Amino acid sequence: MINSLKPASRLTIIFILAVILSGSVLTYFSINNISNLKELTEKRILEEQRELSSRFSTAIQNNIEKVTDGFNNEISLSPALKDSLLKRTSEYGFIIQPFILKNNDQFLHPNFIGIPENLTVVKLLSRFNSVFRKGEEAEFFEKDQGKSKEYYLSCLGYSTGRNDSVKALNALGRVSVKLNDVKNAMTYYNLVISEYFPVTDDNGLPYSYYALPQLLKITNANNPETILPSVEFCLEKMNTGSVPLNYNTEELINLVTEWLKDNTLNNRERSANIIKLTESLKKQVQFSIKYGDELSELVKKGNSESHVVAANDFKVVNPVSGSNLEFFLINTNLKNPAGFLIDRKKLLNTVARTDLQHGFEFDYKIEFPAVYNSNTTEDNLFYTTQLNPLFPEQLIEIKPDDENLIKDLIKRRGWIYGIASVLLLVAMFLGVVLILRDISREKHLARLRSDFISNITHELKTPLTSIRMYAESLMMGRVKSDQVQKEYLSVVVNETDRLKRMINNILEFSKMEKGKPEYHFIKSNLAFILNEAIHEVNYWFEKEHFEVVNELDETIYAEVDPEKMKQAVGNLLSNAIKYSTNTKKIFIRLFKKPERVCIEVEDQGMGIPEDKLSRIFDQFYRIEQKESISGTGLGLTVVKEIIEAHHGSISVTSEIGKGSRFMVIIPLCGT
Ligand code: ADP
Repeated sequence: MINSLKPASRLTIIFILAVILSGSVLTYFSINNISNLKELTEKRILEEQRELSSRFSTAIQNNIEKVTDGFNNEISLSPALKDSLLKRTSEYGFIIQPFILKNNDQFLHPNFIGIPENLTVVKLLSRFNSVFRKGEEAEFFEKDQGKSKEYYLSCLGYSTGRNDSVKALNALGRVSVKLNDVKNAMTYYNLVISEYFPVTDDNGLPYSYYALPQLLKITNANNPETILPSVEFCLEKMNTGSVPLNYNTEELINLVTEWLKDNTLNNRERSANIIKLTESLKKQVQFSIKYGDELSELVKKGNSESHVVAANDFKVVNPVSGSNLEFFLINTNLKNPAGFLIDRKKLLNTVARTDLQHGFEFDYKIEFPAVYNSNTTEDNLFYTTQLNPLFPEQLIEIKPDDENLIKDLIKRRGWIYGIASVLLLVAMFLGVVLILRDISREKHLARLRSDFISNITHELKTPLTSIRMYAESLMMGRVKSDQVQKEYLSVVVNETDRLKRMINNILEFSKMEKGKPEYHFIKSNLAFILNEAIHEVNYWFEKEHFEVVNELDETIYAEVDPEKMKQAVGNLLSNAIKYSTNTKKIFIRLFKKPERVCIEVEDQGMGIPEDKLSRIFDQFYRIEQKESISGTGLGLTVVKEIIEAHHGSISVTSEIGKGSRFMVIIPLCGT
């Protein structure tokens, strides 16, 4: 069968075979692919989770290195060391508290002295002391505040040093409060704070601790703004350690906080700073109370402790007393052992926020569970592991951001492959339809061709037989009368014309097939051409007794190839003759329409069925008739080709039993 097909059809078959083959291969691989996809993706995810966990661990290490970098014995002298520690604290949000210890295990920073040691004060029998005692007697026993004030004032003159002066000033402040002398009380206490802040009394308590609550109390109602600088100054000194901290500090801070709440202060900046200072102080005190003993133990043990060094001689130590949410980074090799208390959660979250997932195919969520997740199944792809050797008990859990990652991926792939397969099936189906259509067309054309051959043989034979018969009779001298001789000769001439017309059609069709019919357009009178065409078939008109009605506008000119146009009109006329039955009447019209010329050939013959109208211009197409009418099926094909080469069009209207009308329209050119 393939050999009987045109090369195009063979190509179609090869194409379909190729599609079927590649489609099958594709389907096989896609099914394989989907089943491998899950496994491969899980592997990929596990690889990325491992990589992420190791990146996280490295990032933790880097952070610890950055925090602990640059501390050595050069800067271990306390002011420089303290500055560096404070600077790091302000840079890294996860540092809760920096600290420095003396080698004798007490804190240098925060300057927390706990319970002040009872100072063994050698009470000198000085003039100051005896006058001061008189002042106290007047104040506490005689309750004569005026008198006591006198004594205290004179004390100032006898003071032997800063301790005496501040003691007298503090007493004067106290008496002034009792005397309701707010103005003076403020002056004395402000002086105590600004000039004598570090000085402690006989019990080791700084005088600021007396002055500050008093100041807060007396200014509570009127003009609290006036003491703001003193409050700020005092807290700052406590914060930097110039005024030591102790168990009373928290109470003092609470007083300040209350005072801030009770008074609306205009100086926002200062009050914000005061709040910041109180918070920092609270932290320092709480830290000192919570971890003081533990840290001094640690320092005592020093290098004998077997903690792993994290970076730059700093070790990670988990507090025994605290929760595992905090840990120390401590360097006991410095002259003054120092370090930081770190908020572990904050450190982990800081690292988790950094871009550790660059270059990954999927996105992940990081969490830090306390215990291994018991929900871990093969499907939820949780990866839990120990975070870092420095924190043996700290777990890190890494899971895909999108819980349905694999399900979605497989679904998506399934869709893609599904759609591709459907498209492939459609393409294959279309291919089969196309090829079947192609085959049936080829078959039909082959039949038409074979019909054509038998038709043409018959068509050629008929006129040739007549020509031979008449010519032979003439040659043999059988016809004597001039009249009959002429008649015989005219038959020969007209049959030759018929032959010529037929051969011309075949030649024209063959040129059409090759795609190169030649046209020579010249401006011509169309009535003249039509008359020539009529003249060529006149013999048949007369022979068959046709009534021919000519309605030709003789003024019409158009750019045409006269021979081809004559051939086209000749074909239409010859058809009109062939397909006329009883009513032998033909109309030939030529008239103008705007910009166009119309040629009509109308007969009153057998007509054409409506469903065949669209096919009569096809090559080799013939309508089967009851009585055999000779023809090749090329006449109208050639007419259409010629008219279209003239940029025109041909149409037909017809009614069975009444006749047909062929209308040719071509462009007009001026007369
Ligand atoms: P043929 O050589 O068969 O005449 P054509 O291409 O000229 O080939 O015409 C195709 C078919 O159209 C004819 O077989 C005929 O059935 C139909 N046909 C053409 N002209 C007419 C007409 N004037 N009246 C009726 N049928 C016609």
